[in-house]
Amino acid sequence: MTDSASAKTSDGPNVQAAIDKFIAVTGSQVAAYLDACIHCGQCAQACHFHEVTHDPKYVPANKLVPITKVYKRHKAPFAALKRAIGLAPAELTADDLTEWQELLYDSCTMCGRCTVVCPMGIDIASIVGLSRQAMVAAGLGPADLMEAAENARTKGSPLGMTAQVLSDRIEWLADDFEVEIPLDKKKADVLVTLSSIEMMKYPDSVVAMARLMNASGVDWTFSSHGYEATNFGILSGKSDVAKIMIERLTGAAEELGAKTVIIPECGHAYGAMRWSAAGILGRPLPFEVLHITEFVAQQIKAGKLKLKKMGDAITYHDPCQVSRRGGAAEDARTILNAFASDFREMEPTGNNNWCCGGGGGVQAMASASDLRHKVFRIKTEQVDKTGAQSLVSACANCRLTMDESKVALDWHTDIKSLVELVADQLEDA
Ligand code: SF4
Ligand code: SF4
Repeated sequence: MTDSASAKTSDGPNVQAAIDKFIAVTGSQVAAYLDACIHCGQCAQACHFHEVTHDPKYVPANKLVPITKVYKRHKAPFAALKRAIGLAPAELTADDLTEWQELLYDSCTMCGRCTVVCPMGIDIASIVGLSRQAMVAAGLGPADLMEAAENARTKGSPLGMTAQVLSDRIEWLADDFEVEIPLDKKKADVLVTLSSIEMMKYPDSVVAMARLMNASGVDWTFSSHGYEATNFGILSGKSDVAKIMIERLTGAAEELGAKTVIIPECGHAYGAMRWSAAGILGRPLPFEVLHITEFVAQQIKAGKLKLKKMGDAITYHDPCQVSRRGGAAEDARTILNAFASDFREMEPTGNNNWCCGGGGGVQAMASASDLRHKVFRIKTEQVDKTGAQSLVSACANCRLTMDESKVALDWHTDIKSLVELVADQLEDA
């Protein structure tokens, strides 16, 4: 049965399907995490949802409850014996699943900040991702995330950007901005991907990427066979869609003979291809995966991109999946220090940054908007303390979250794309 075939029964959530999925996704690593939690509560202080609400339901460890309940009742050592003598946790219920829907979707951006402070190093973000697969099996995936995932499956992108729309928009951007944007070259060393958020809402980012690729002198192309870098299969918990999206990018890169796949300004897209793709496909990727900031930093270090200086006071929001969970915090600093003469770090920053509030698919959920805006107050206070005129990021999803939240909070600092800024500073721009 595919994920999409799972659904609520006429009596409510399909509890048995959720239990079966929780059991299936609890491998030895996850089991070790579930056994390791010592209920110390330290993760509470790390989570933006708990920080702004002080509501105990938002303590990160609480998000482990449904999967832990199923694991301890059905799969842990001596589970059968404990069940027989009444020492196992009670069976998971429809009420449990309904109650945890908001905790596993609306209020976890999978930012991984809780793991940094957890003395046991428990990867709660990944376990939330696995738990979402069980919620989908129960028929409790949020409608807007389910729709985005189905759009990705049937149309090629969560925003419905088909290959034809991609081709039309690339032609328009190339003409309007007088920039060469190759699409469907037969062979290329580098496959560049994009997020439909950029193409539909921030098309200047696509132009900026093209300018940077051209200025670097590499042999690159977009491909209509694999272009969408976002992976709403992973975000929603639809594991079959997750695999399809990875297969499309991998197939396009293999068809081109590409040695490198570039992920655009999108945090979770980077994590999906860089860290999850090989495991989901069940084989190593025959190319390297670089976030656009890693690529640009490499080109700057190699002396291939010459940049003019910019004097505006700017600060940088680290996308969680690029910095803390991606390991590329320093690449952004390499870029910023190459052109920004007044770059101001906010506190905390880098791997300890606060999330924008919209990662993990939370941006796409209408039900999460009020909480998302509340959480953004942490960011506005951080930025205001720096006195910076602009807040820069390298994730279109962060940018969209922050652009929407700033309107809701009546906050007026400019929010910019790192790739667009750096392209504007090219010496021949
Ligand atoms: S991953 Fe982030 S949002 Fe999710 S529980 Fe941990 S700190 Fe909170
Ligand atoms: S910090 Fe780690 S060990 Fe402590 S309650 Fe949170 S998840 Fe459990």
